[in-house]
Amino acid sequence: MDFSKIELSAEHEQLRADIRDFVREYFTPEEYEHEHKTGDAFNEKIHLALGERGWIQPTWPKERGGAGLDRLGAKILDLELKKTRLPMIALGTTDLVSKAVERFASPNIRDEVLKGVAKGTVRFSLGYTEPDGGSDIAGAKTKAVRDGDEWVINGSKMFTTGAHTTQYTFLITRTDPTQPKHKGLTMFLLPLDLPGVEIQGIWTYSGERTNIVYYDDVHVSDDYRLGEVNGGWTVLRGPLDEEHSIGAGEDDGLDEPSIGTNFIRELHYALDDTAEWAKTERADGSRPADEAGVLERIGALTARYEEAVITQGPAGRIAGSETLVEGSAELLDLIGREALVSRDGDGAVGNGQIDYAHRFAQGTATYAGTVEVFRTILAQHVLGLPRPNYPGSRDFGVSASTKVS
Ligand SMILES: Cc1cc2nc3c(=O)[nH]c(=O)nc-3n(C[C@H](O)[C@H](O)[C@H](O)COP(=O)(O)OP(=O)(O)OC[C@H]3O[C@@H](n4cnc5c(N)ncnc54)[C@H](O)[C@@H]3O)c2cc1C
Repeated sequence: MDFSKIELSAEHEQLRADIRDFVREYFTPEEYEHEHKTGDAFNEKIHLALGERGWIQPTWPKERGGAGLDRLGAKILDLELKKTRLPMIALGTTDLVSKAVERFASPNIRDEVLKGVAKGTVRFSLGYTEPDGGSDIAGAKTKAVRDGDEWVINGSKMFTTGAHTTQYTFLITRTDPTQPKHKGLTMFLLPLDLPGVEIQGIWTYSGERTNIVYYDDVHVSDDYRLGEVNGGWTVLRGPLDEEHSIGAGEDDGLDEPSIGTNFIRELHYALDDTAEWAKTERADGSRPADEAGVLERIGALTARYEEAVITQGPAGRIAGSETLVEGSAELLDLIGREALVSRDGDGAVGNGQIDYAHRFAQGTATYAGTVEVFRTILAQHVLGLPRPNYPGSRDFGVSASTKVS
């Protein structure tokens, strides 16, 4: 890894300053509070304001609604936004799917949809996981049956995060149960306002909102099919590999922070609050920071945090989650019961941040592919080891044809 600093041009310095001003202006304490109450990880006002600046698709030319930024400019934007707690899950899910829309959508819908993406009025969620299982995406059972120029969809999808704040879901369906499972799938960009779609909220331990979505005789035009009938796996592969950090990054010397950096940020906040706690005098005048053992534990965890933050690709996803899971538990153990007091509770350390980090940590081991699945991705796609051949091992959602990077 090259740790040398990149000299920013005046234009890039200005961009960075503009992004910081944007965050200060839009991500007010009121919006932060709103996010805590809803757990939506989304804020329409902020999303539309990003769209006005061309920052939803920053590398697209201005005529297409982008900002015409080069790769370094787009990287500065990405890093600056990720440093904050800006609720922006739709930015990521929409970006993953928009490349598939660009490549596979019917010309009848493509340009209109992509125009809305750049503006912020059109957003996408991911409809892969079903109540029976998420790692085995190719095992999808939600059915789509052809009916003239339409398809009729029946089934349910679990954990469609953002279904209630997005306009379309990237829906993987079973269209031919007689074919081997990867071959009988078809992908749709399904409008979520169609009759027969029912969205129900589910909240995680930390209050993050996701959804179960029921599809009951949903009629959708064939225009919303992406790619070939029974060619859904081909459409899914690009977004899935990108989400799994397989083949990520371009050979331009710019590092790709892993999805793990999104998780581990919560440990950063928790460590800051732990440092404040350690410096604070107790009733007897002593401070936790006066004890060598306390300093050693905080120092060791800070070093683990720094390691995880700079770890890239699939390894970074595992390190980000596991360091947060173990690190937040370590802080609960170090501080004791005040660290278990939730936000706005009496005597909460750092206004409940340690408790929040610990709750939030648990989901990070699961979403966007579990850490167990990522270990296999690491073995196959980074180390180049062969695909496993134990029973059921070929079933989870790693695309079969991805080359070892
Ligand atoms: C908060 C949250 C948000 C989410 N958002 C979305 C979303 O927006 N869209 C979406 O489609 N899904 C979403 N998911 C679903 C998530 O991707 C799945 O939960 C995940 O892929 C695991 O699927 P599962 O929970 O069905 O567990 P299963 O796949 O049933 O796995 C159960 C256990 O078995 C292990 N396992 C399974 N297969 C293998 C294997 N081959 N090798 C080793 N171990 C294995 C897993 O690691 C896990 O520990 C979300 C989940 C959560 C919790």
